[in-house]
Amino acid sequence: MTHRIAIVGLGKIARDQHLPSIAKNAEFELAAIVSRNAELDGLDHFTTLDEMLSARPDIDTVALCTPPQVRRQYAEAAIRAGRHVLLEKPPGATVAEVDWLRKLAAEHGVTLFATWHSRYAHGVEAARAWLVDKAITRVDIVWREDVRRWHPGQDWIWIPGGMGVFDPGINALSILTHILPAPVLVTGATLEVPENRQTPIAAKIDFLSITGHPVTADFDWRQEGPQTWDITVRTDAGLLELSSGGSVLAIAGETALSGDDTEYDGIYAQFARLLSENKSDVDASPLQLVADAYMLGDIRKVEAFIE
Ligand code: NAP
Repeated sequence: MTHRIAIVGLGKIARDQHLPSIAKNAEFELAAIVSRNAELDGLDHFTTLDEMLSARPDIDTVALCTPPQVRRQYAEAAIRAGRHVLLEKPPGATVAEVDWLRKLAAEHGVTLFATWHSRYAHGVEAARAWLVDKAITRVDIVWREDVRRWHPGQDWIWIPGGMGVFDPGINALSILTHILPAPVLVTGATLEVPENRQTPIAAKIDFLSITGHPVTADFDWRQEGPQTWDITVRTDAGLLELSSGGSVLAIAGETALSGDDTEYDGIYAQFARLLSENKSDVDASPLQLVADAYMLGDIRKVEAFIE
């Protein structure tokens, strides 16, 4: 069955990834855009979600590509109108609202899919499979990028709910929570917040796996030049390295897998599967770790950030 889908929020990720991946997937037909500011030629356009929901009952599916601060309101409206919902990451601004949406979707009999695009990077699934029977001794995450390059003009990342450097950092945590066989707990964090902003520009987090090994994360938005999105896992069977955001996997120094970015094609293939099976997929564990880092975080004011 083909699903008519509407995109809500026509910003960077909608244009860069959702539009091409929807166009490639025969299970979906892009039927409308909900945007306060932007239109696409030849497509129905609505400035509010409510207008779309009442005007187009044939659209059974929506993809919410807005910032997290408004995700819950939009998702709730769509679910109550009986529509299936795909949530961009992070799935909400709080853990409780994601749990609430999961329950609401179940009550209304619709599919809710909280996406974590980094889990669809080339090396991630193979890393998970390799680690299943290994004794892990340590994990280190280094996620350092240039905020001016990746988030130009995006004021929402600097206000409450925008999560600052956790906006990319949560991608690393979505990989971590997927590939490790056991959960990890936050034990401490240092958050650096520019004196003119409300969210962190850098964070260092310590975790402990429930199996006893340490995990560290170093997130920083001030890295110019080459960008770093690496996860290193030390085990009794050697080193596993996921680099380039999970797209390159090396085991014991040998490249095992690498490939072009097809993360969003993977997301839409999974969404189609969930719809056909009438299932939801809502994992809030990466968001929970961010919330815990905020709760335990030692907040330090640092130099103002001027874009
Ligand atoms: P963006 O370029 O700022 O676009 C977000 C869009 O959401 C805006 O263009 C706006 O579209 C709409 N919107 C609705 N309510 C809004 C509000 N109250 N404040 C601001 N915008 C509002 O952001 P983005 O980079 O696409 O990110 C959107 C989501 O995708 C975020 O959760 C982000 O973490 C996730 N994501 C981004 C990337 C990336 O590379 N940028 C990658 C993966 C995931 P209209 O003007 O059309 O209403």
